Amino acid sequence: MRVAFCTLGCKVNQYETQALEQLFAARGHDLVPFEGEADAYIINTCTVTAVSDKKSRQTVRQARKRAPGAVVAVCGCYPQTHPGDMADLPVDLAAGTGDRTGFVELVERACEERREKLTALDDAMKRRTFEPLPAGGLEGRTRAMLKVEDGCVNFCAYCIIPYARGPVRSLPLAEAAAQAAELAAEGYRELVLTGIEISSWGRDFRDGTSLIDLVEAVCAAAPGCRVRLGSLEPRTVTEEFCLRAAKLENLCPHFHLSMQSGCDATLVRMNRRYSAARFYESVNLLRKHFDTPAITTDMIVGFPGETEEEFTQSLEFIQRCGFAAMHIFPYSRRPGTPAAAMPGQVPRAVKETRAHKAAGIAAKMERDYLSRLEGQAAEVLFEEEREGFWRGHTARYSEVRVKSGEDLNNQLRNVQITAVGDGFLEGELLPSG
Ligand code: SF4
Repeated sequence: MRVAFCTLGCKVNQYETQALEQLFAARGHDLVPFEGEADAYIINTCTVTAVSDKKSRQTVRQARKRAPGAVVAVCGCYPQTHPGDMADLPVDLAAGTGDRTGFVELVERACEERREKLTALDDAMKRRTFEPLPAGGLEGRTRAMLKVEDGCVNFCAYCIIPYARGPVRSLPLAEAAAQAAELAAEGYRELVLTGIEISSWGRDFRDGTSLIDLVEAVCAAAPGCRVRLGSLEPRTVTEEFCLRAAKLENLCPHFHLSMQSGCDATLVRMNRRYSAARFYESVNLLRKHFDTPAITTDMIVGFPGETEEEFTQSLEFIQRCGFAAMHIFPYSRRPGTPAAAMPGQVPRAVKETRAHKAAGIAAKMERDYLSRLEGQAAEVLFEEEREGFWRGHTARYSEVRVKSGEDLNNQLRNVQITAVGDGFLEGELLPSG
C-alpha cells in the first residue's frame, strides 16, 4: 500500500505518527506525501480545543474528496473522545489512542475488504500498560523524541486529555535507557523525553522511582546526545530534583513548566494543584541550580470566571517569572469537562484581547532573555539551511542563524552570538576543535 499521514496536535501525536510510519514501513508499505496519491490516508487527530476537532473533521473530508476510492482512516484523541461523531464522518476506519500495532493491521484489512466501516475504540480509562513503540526522529537524524509516558490523572478542569489517554503508564527505565542508546547509535544528536504528563513518569510502578531517576538513566545511556525534557508540572522541580539534574552534563538547561495561570483563585478553579507561590519556588530553584536556564511556559487566558483583576494578577506574575518564551491560549470550552459547565464563561472578544496583551508581554520577555545571551558563545545543533542561513538550536532552545558555506546539517558547532533578531539569535561560527 501507499500510505499517507497527516498529523494534528502535540509532540506526542507527532511521535506516534512517526512510530506508525515505522510500523507500516516494516510491513512493506510505502510512505507517500499526504498531498499526493495514496491507497490509505491516515489522519492522526487532536481534540485539545474545539478548533482541533474542526481541523480533524476538515482534514478527513478533504482526503475523502481528493481520493474517493482510497481508504481514509482516523486515529488519535478526537475519535477516542467523540466516538459518536464517527458515524457522520466519511471514514473507513476509526481507531483511538490505543493499540497502534493493531491499527496497522486494521488499515490493511480496510484496504483489502472495503466493506463496512471498521471501528476500534476501547475504554481508555481501563488501560494499564504502556505500549512501547519504535522511537525515531522528527527532523532528519537531528532530534528524536522518546515517548516515556502516556496518560494523565490530574483532571485539570479544562482538559479533555485524561479521557482521551487514560491513566498514567510509564515506559520501564531499562527500556527507556536501551531506546536512548539505540537512538544515539543511529546518529541522533538530541533526545526529547516526551509524554502526556512526564512529571508522573514512574508512579504506576509504585516503587518510589520518579522522573529524575529516568532522566539520569537516559543521560547516562546516551552521553553524546543532548537530553531535553518535555513539559513539567511545577511539583517536579524540588531541591533534590535540581541537585541531581544539575550534575547531568548533557541535560539541556531548558525547562517548560506548565503554569496556565498566575492567579491562585483561577488555579483553584482550574484544579491545578499548586499556588503561584509554589510555581515561583520552582522558577527560583531552576535559576539557583542552572546558569541562565530557559524557563518557558503555557498560559490560558479567559478561563471561566477570570476577572480583569485576576487576569492582571497573572500578567504581573509572568513578568515576575521572566519567561524565555510562552505559549498563550485563549480558553477553549471542551464539552464533557467540568470547566465547560462553569458559570462566568468569558466572551470571545475579551479572551482575544487578553491573549493579545499577554503575547505582547511574552514577546518583550523573550527579547530580554535573548539579549542576555548576546556576546556569549553557545553550542548549536544545526538542523536546516533556509533563505541563506543555517538554523539550529542551542541547548537552551534558542534558535540561532548563521551564514556559512559549510554543510552544517546535524552538526554541533560553537557559535559566537553577535545579535538578537525577532525571536532568534544571530551568530558566527567559531573554529571547530
Ligand atoms: S496535567 Fe492537566 S492539562 Fe496536562 S494533560 Fe493532565 S489534565 Fe490535561
